[in-house]
Amino acid sequence: MPAPKNAMEIYQHLDKSNCRECGEKTCLAFAGSVYTGHRKIRDCPKLDQEIIRRLSGESAKQKTIEESRYEYLEILKKEISNIDLADAAKKIGADFKNGKLKLKVLGKDFSVDGTGQISTSIHVNAWVAVPFLNYVLNGKGLSPSGNWKSFRELKDGKEFYPLFRKRCEEPIKQIADKYTDLFDDLVHIFNGQKVKEQFEADISVVLHPLPKVPIMISYWLPEEGLGSSLNLFFDDTADKNLHINAIYTLGAGLTQMFEKISLRHGSFNHEP
Ligand code: SF4
Repeated sequence: MPAPKNAMEIYQHLDKSNCRECGEKTCLAFAGSVYTGHRKIRDCPKLDQEIIRRLSGESAKQKTIEESRYEYLEILKKEISNIDLADAAKKIGADFKNGKLKLKVLGKDFSVDGTGQISTSIHVNAWVAVPFLNYVLNGKGLSPSGNWKSFRELKDGKEFYPLFRKRCEEPIKQIADKYTDLFDDLVHIFNGQKVKEQFEADISVVLHPLPKVPIMISYWLPEEGLGSSLNLFFDDTADKNLHINAIYTLGAGLTQMFEKISLRHGSFNHEP
């Protein structure tokens, strides 16, 4: 069987009951995640082994991650058009006015209308738009508990951690090592807050990429032959408000933004 050309080809094989046993809200969302390589077809318990065998590994291999991400964004927009936005706003504690759901992303207003169109005063990249829409679709609206966890400690975090380390923590550490104003800029540009000693780090900044999904970036300066290190921490409610894929995407989106800022300031020569 040739590789599926799009998520709809995967969707055709699904049960279409939207039973949520796979952890996604709908079969269409699951098809989108499989197509973009974020979920495995075997995660749907309703498929028979023959279909799993035929579809396994046949995801969007020829596409770049960026292309897949934009395709997934289109699927999420479609999903938005099928929900009651006013109800979703109530659930996640967002504002709802003139047919638009509005909440703060990194301190800036982000709105989505009933057709899934996003409006904001900052540049929308798919890495941030995807978790934003995921949060609107699936967020539980749980308030942060104030207890921090590493990515690895989140539900299913272990499996994704090597990728998260490579795409998020390592590049941010490289920026922090060379671009000394990074943490001040995070505070000023993204409405971050410097917080007191956490995990004995030298610097810790808390950002709110989504109102109820704070991220803490902690940085340890090099000392006595030891290199610097940097870790991202999440509130222990994060994996209840967002699927681990969306949390990873959020981290990758932030990393891209930090890279752009550091390049714009001309003080960092990083090849993204
Ligand atoms: S478990 Fe399968 S049938 Fe149920 S929602 Fe997920 S994809 Fe659909």
